[in-house]
Amino acid sequence: MTAVINPATEAVVAQVAATSLEDTDAAIERAHVALASWRAVAPGDRARLLRRFADAVDADVENLAQLEVSNSGHTIGNARWEARNVRDVLHYYAATPERLLGKQIPVPGGVNMTFNEPLGVVGIIVPWNFPMPIAGWGFAPALAAGNTVVLKPAELTPLTAIRLGELAAEAGIPPGVFTVLPGKGSVVGQRFVTHPAVRKVVFTGSTEVGKQIMAGCADQVKRVTLELGGKNANIVFADSDLEKAAATAPYGVFDNAGQDCCARSRILVQRSVFDRFMELLEPAVAGVVVGDPAAEATEMGPLISAEHHDRVAGYLDDGTNVAFRGSAPDGPGFWFPPTVVLPSGPTDRIVTDEVFGPVVTVLPFEDEADAISLANDTEYGLSGSIWTNDVGRALRVSRAVEAGNLSVNSHSSVRYWTPFGGFKQSGLGRELGPDAALAFTEVKNVFIATD
Ligand code: NDP
Repeated sequence: MTAVINPATEAVVAQVAATSLEDTDAAIERAHVALASWRAVAPGDRARLLRRFADAVDADVENLAQLEVSNSGHTIGNARWEARNVRDVLHYYAATPERLLGKQIPVPGGVNMTFNEPLGVVGIIVPWNFPMPIAGWGFAPALAAGNTVVLKPAELTPLTAIRLGELAAEAGIPPGVFTVLPGKGSVVGQRFVTHPAVRKVVFTGSTEVGKQIMAGCADQVKRVTLELGGKNANIVFADSDLEKAAATAPYGVFDNAGQDCCARSRILVQRSVFDRFMELLEPAVAGVVVGDPAAEATEMGPLISAEHHDRVAGYLDDGTNVAFRGSAPDGPGFWFPPTVVLPSGPTDRIVTDEVFGPVVTVLPFEDEADAISLANDTEYGLSGSIWTNDVGRALRVSRAVEAGNLSVNSHSSVRYWTPFGGFKQSGLGRELGPDAALAFTEVKNVFIATD
C-alpha cells in the first residue's frame, strides 16, 4: 500500500495498492484479448460509448475536482477545468471512429486503398502535475482509434485516474479495454516498455526518464510519444502593452505552482523598458493569492511533495539575486512563495534547468535578434509567449522561436482541438488536435487486382 498525501496539509487522504509485475502482465494480457472485440464494435457504437464515458465524467466533475484538490493541491478552479477537459477530449475524439477515412489511390490494373488500423495495446504513463488532462489526451484518441489502453498514474497522484477507470466501466466501456494500474514507474511503467503486447507507449514526465523509455522502446521498435517539459520564454518587447504583459506574467509561470511544462519561466524583457516592467511586475506577484486550494479565490496551491519542495528550494542559495517574492502560508503543507530572480546571465542553472516550481528569472535583451537567440538558447522547445503590438514582428518571432506552442499577447497553450507538443528535447510527436488519433493507427495499403 502507498499512502497518498494531501500536499496542502500533509494529511494521508488514501492508501492505494501498488500493482505488482504479475498483475501488470495479467492486465496487459486482458487488454490484448479485448482488442478483437473492441475493434469489432461498429464505429457508431464505439462513438456512443465514448460519449457515455464523457457524460459520466461530466456528471462527476465536482467529485473529480475535489479529489484532485485533496490529492494534488490544485486550486479548485483549475481542478474543475481539468475534469471538464477530460469530458471535452472524450467528446471530441468520439467523432473519430466514424471519420477514420482511408484513401483510394488510382493505380493501373486494380483498386488501391488504405486503412487506418489500430496499433494494439497502448500503455500510457502519466505524471503528477496534471493527472486528469494528460491521461485523457492519451486514452481518448487511443480508444477512439480502436486500441485498448493500460494507464499508469503517477504514484503521488493516483486518485482521479482510479475514479476515471470506474466511470469508464459505469459508462459501459467493456472489461479489458481501459485499465488503470496504480503503481511504481520502475515496475508498471517499465513493463509497458518491455511487454511485447504493448505496441505504443505514451509518456509525459522528465526528460531523463523519457530518454530511458525511448531507448527501451527501440528494442521492439515500439511506437512512442514523449512530452518532456520545457523552459519556456516569455518575450516582452518595448512596443507591447507593458501593463498587460506584466499583469499576466505571474499567471504565465505560477499557475499550478509552476509545476507546468508550459510555464513561462524565463521572462525576457527589452532593455529600454526593463526597469518599468520590473516596477509593474512586483505588485502583480505580490497579488497572487496563495493558500488553501479548496478556497474559490485561491490562485496558487502548494508544491506536490516535500521532496519536490527541496528540489525547487535547491535552486536558490545565498548568492541568488531574488528581486522580490510573493506570500505563502507557513506549514504544514509544501508551500513555496512565487519568486522572481535576476540571474547573472543566461547560463545560470536557474535559467537553463526546468525548475518546475514558482520561480521565474528575468533577463534583458537588446533587439529582436537578441530576443530570438536567447529564447532558443535551450535544449527545450515546448511553448512560449511573445508580447508585441507589431504584427510583422509577432509573425517573424513566432516563426523563429523553436517551440511547438506559441502565443502572442497571451499565455494560452492548450486547446483540445489544436496540436500540442515539443521541438528538440521537449518531446516527440503531437497530442490533441485533429490528427492525434492517427498517431494511434498504422496505415495499411491494400491492392486488389482487377485485370
Ligand atoms: P518522472 O519522469 O520520474 O515521472 C513521470 C511518470 O513516469 C510517473 O508516472 C513515474 O512513475 C513514471 N516513471 C518513473 N520512472 C519510470 C521508468 N523507469 N519507467 C517507466 N515509467 C517511469 O518525473 P518526476 O515525478 O520524478 O519529476 C521530476 C521532474 O520531471 C520534475 O521536477 C519536472 O522537471 C519533470 N516533469 C515534467 C513533467 C512534464 O509535464 N513534462 C511532468 C512531471 C515531471 P512514479 O509515479 O512511480 O514515479
